[in-house]
Amino acid sequence: MEPVLREYDAGITCIDTMLLQPGRAACYLLVQDGCAAFIDTGTSHTVPFLLKTLELKDIPRQAVEYVIPTHVHLDHAGGAGKLMEQLPNATLVIHPRGAPHMVDPSRLVMGATEVYGEHRFREHFGEIRAIDEQRVMVAEDQSSLSLADRTLVFLHTPGHAYHHFCIHDETSNGIFAGDTFGLSYTELDDENGAFIMPTTTPVQFDPQAWQDSLTRLLDYHPGNMYLTHFGRVSEVNRLAQELSQDIESYASIARQHMHKSGRKAKIHASLTEYLRKRLSERKTPEEVDRLTEFLQYDLQLNTAGLEVWLQRLERRSN
Ligand SMILES: [Zn+2]
Repeated sequence: MEPVLREYDAGITCIDTMLLQPGRAACYLLVQDGCAAFIDTGTSHTVPFLLKTLELKDIPRQAVEYVIPTHVHLDHAGGAGKLMEQLPNATLVIHPRGAPHMVDPSRLVMGATEVYGEHRFREHFGEIRAIDEQRVMVAEDQSSLSLADRTLVFLHTPGHAYHHFCIHDETSNGIFAGDTFGLSYTELDDENGAFIMPTTTPVQFDPQAWQDSLTRLLDYHPGNMYLTHFGRVSEVNRLAQELSQDIESYASIARQHMHKSGRKAKIHASLTEYLRKRLSERKTPEEVDRLTEFLQYDLQLNTAGLEVWLQRLERRSN
């Protein structure tokens, strides 16, 4: 199968990872003066698409210097091990808190199996391969590296996950945001532009840290954000404002149900209602129904993440 690509300027290609279905998760190929880097990798099932993209662009596998998952959630980093096996000169660049999980993915596999279930896990992510420690480089906060003469700066951005960093790319004045800038599927676009919402996937949602991370990203005045879910968005300030409001609303929805029985189902219902209200500000009732259905999977993950967050708050207060 051919990879599905979106070509942007400044040597940036968006590659569909084909997770679940087209348009759900992306990763990026960055090319500068014959040197290449992948930012996020998708899952093990994505690797053939990444290699095929290199082939289509006449980029030898030896020219890939870096593989850079924004964090170690498996839709971003699940394919990293398998990909590294095919790229003899590549170094894996990763957040210090994520590095141990790339060298020994057993806990990652266990955690994801808990979130997704055994069957779904195998279907979505396939096999997770360990990466030789010698090939792993940790990126500290505000460290940078060069791809030819192009500078990439790493910013630690907790909120979605503690092991998350974003990458500021001076050349495109863009930020590769992973999940820190929420999700904005193309499917949700309309004449008002992009529609954004948070990804509170288990298990490290932290609303205050997330707000601080967003502020940090905006300090760079990026012209574009490159999201994993999905593709490039501009209108960064409007979207940041909406995302920030949503993060606050999500947290307060979860807190409202904190002491109720059957709270997970209640959080799910309230999140759904909140999303439908946001959608209905700009879409027809038919569209709202269709998109609520389309976002069912994300609503479930977001609910699960909020439930885990409440459990963490309870442990802290005990
Ligand atoms: Zn994630």
